[in-house]
Amino acid sequence: MKSTKGDESLIIVMAKGCSSEDVAHVIERLESIGAEAHVSEGKQRTVIGAVGDRNAIQQLPWEAFSGVERAVPVLKPFKFVSRDFQVEDTVVDVGGVPVGGGNFAPIAGPCAVETRDQLFASAEAVAKAGATILRGDAFKPRTSPYSFQGLAEKGLELMAEAREEFGMPFVAEAVDPRDVELVSSYADLIRVGTRNMANFTLLSELGRQSKPVMLKRGLTATIEEWLNAAEYIYKEGNHDVIMCERGIRTFETSTRNTLDISAVPVLKELSHLPVIVDPSHSGGKRTLVASLTRIAVASGADGFMVDVHPAPETALVDGPQAILPTEFAELMEQVRALQSVMETF
Ligand code: PEP
Ligand code: MN
Repeated sequence: MKSTKGDESLIIVMAKGCSSEDVAHVIERLESIGAEAHVSEGKQRTVIGAVGDRNAIQQLPWEAFSGVERAVPVLKPFKFVSRDFQVEDTVVDVGGVPVGGGNFAPIAGPCAVETRDQLFASAEAVAKAGATILRGDAFKPRTSPYSFQGLAEKGLELMAEAREEFGMPFVAEAVDPRDVELVSSYADLIRVGTRNMANFTLLSELGRQSKPVMLKRGLTATIEEWLNAAEYIYKEGNHDVIMCERGIRTFETSTRNTLDISAVPVLKELSHLPVIVDPSHSGGKRTLVASLTRIAVASGADGFMVDVHPAPETALVDGPQAILPTEFAELMEQVRALQSVMETF
């Protein structure tokens, strides 16, 4: 996809059953006035996002074009990730596991890969309990530069081994734009951590590679800023973005961060992207993980991601918030029970 110039956008919604010539004609006309056409082909209809010079775009009588149902100016700063651009939910394929649009993903595993035994004990347990995606980081951004920073490529190799052994795709964080190629060569889903949500160089780099991206909400980011960050990835051509609410910084000190559960329904209104919740990094306490996960399921989230460690007291990272494999199995029972209730709504 070419880079975008101009900041005004118009969404041209094509009528159901319009011809491919109608679509081609609109694109051709947009390009003839120097605008870009971003085409999104949904199951129901085709939608074209026009980006370029506002006056030039709006001068043309789009609704008089054959096959055009309506033309809607987009006033929000984010465009392609908005519901105005695409009405249907995006379904992201994570190494064969669909996420979004009614496909719920339980994601679990250790916060960081520490040893083969630690990773495999966690992976085996979460796979057995019903998790569909494995988590485990090889690069750990830490508050203190003296804390354990992860096993780097060795950690990714161990995650790839666990993927084969337990048949689950995996998610891992890329911290630096220079590591994107390496992480992308191993992981099925690349995570952007809260501290990097506004690292636009990293976001653009991730937009130019083909693996799906999980975008965590910045510690102090508004929902609009978070959607703008997703737009950076989307606009480079990578449309497979999963949003992750992981708690925000407030005046409250009894939790590590405040889980902003309203972000789930708000995002569902504003955007077509899937949204999941991280109860581990929001609550920051083992005793809160189960209830925050239940809240996540009831909120209509498309999945959740939790830290599971076979021996949390020995964990090199985030031990206090990791749950035991047995606790995860119990939690999955509760998640399944709640999901069946959710299906009745
Ligand atoms: C994590 O998921 O391991 C992590 C570091 O989370 P966050 O970026 O949300 O703090
Ligand atoms: Mn962690």
